[in-house]
Amino acid sequence: MARRSVDADVVVVGGGPAGAAAAIACATRGLRVILCERERLGRDRPGETVHPGIEPLMEQLGVADRVAGTIGARHPGIWVEWGGPRRFEAFGGDASGPWRGLQLWRADFDALLLARACELGVKLRQPCAATGVLMRDGMLDGLQTAVGPITTRIVVDASGQTRWLGRALEVASPARSMRLIARYGYMEGSCPLYDDAPSLVGDESGWTWTALVRPKLYQMGATFIRRPASLRLDAATPTRPDAPRAQPWSGRDLADDEQGGRSRMVHGRRRRGIA
Ligand SMILES: Cc1cc2nc3c(=O)[nH]c(=O)nc-3n(C[C@H](O)[C@H](O)[C@H](O)COP(=O)(O)OP(=O)(O)OC[C@H]3O[C@@H](n4cnc5c(N)ncnc54)[C@H](O)[C@@H]3O)c2cc1C
Repeated sequence: MARRSVDADVVVVGGGPAGAAAAIACATRGLRVILCERERLGRDRPGETVHPGIEPLMEQLGVADRVAGTIGARHPGIWVEWGGPRRFEAFGGDASGPWRGLQLWRADFDALLLARACELGVKLRQPCAATGVLMRDGMLDGLQTAVGPITTRIVVDASGQTRWLGRALEVASPARSMRLIARYGYMEGSCPLYDDAPSLVGDESGWTWTALVRPKLYQMGATFIRRPASLRLDAATPTRPDAPRAQPWSGRDLADDEQGGRSRMVHGRRRRGIA
């Protein structure tokens, strides 16, 4: 029986790093790919710090020589203060020197990956939210989107924490961690304590992550394992006596959110706050 023609061999839902990487991998192998991203513009979101192990992946994706402009800082390891005295955890190294992690500015990095995908022939539909699944004879036949149907036999769900396809198909996806509440924001200024490497300070209630993500710009994120009595971020500033104190970030500045079994972040406003 002749195979029915479809709009694309693969449709990827989500234009984050996972979706762009999947689209690049498929297009590199000669498949016709459509990528649907519901957001209109480059997304500004957390997730800047990446392990040096990402570098071979960037080679495979064909962007290794293009990422320089998206790197805000590099670091050879992480300062950890959790269950013991503050210690430095290095990534390691080889004959060429220490391996260094990267602070990738997400809006720029994500846009770079999408541009690479388009260069390889991926058709980017943006803004284009996937809204439903098309079925034919009990088999997946494509997607319904905000701008019309797309027929395909393969859908890659790269919708991140939305887990859109699993929800659309009502496929159970149990929580794989305890309930977390995460809040973050950015501070402009100068704080040498965090310039050589990010800091992770934790205890039984959660952890605080502080990192220089761009020159003179620090990200601070507090993740709570249980909802604290107060969700003010200043309640979670590092416990080190010599650590900088952020100006209190009130609930007006930082929205909070929580989801069972996963963390979900809401942007805070940028504040000038490092003392
Ligand atoms: C506070 C915080 C800090 C973090 N810090 C780090 C870090 O330092 N380092 C690190 O490696 N990771 C970090 N992460 C995790 C990192 O952000 C995620 O792992 C990463 O963004 C996942 O990428 P992704 O492509 O899977 O999903 P996402 O980046 O979430 O992309 C999913 C995309 O799908 C789109 N989408 C969703 N539903 C639909 C739909 N129905 N139709 C079309 N498009 C849709 C969304 O708009 C979005 O653009 C952090 C996460 C949080 C919450």
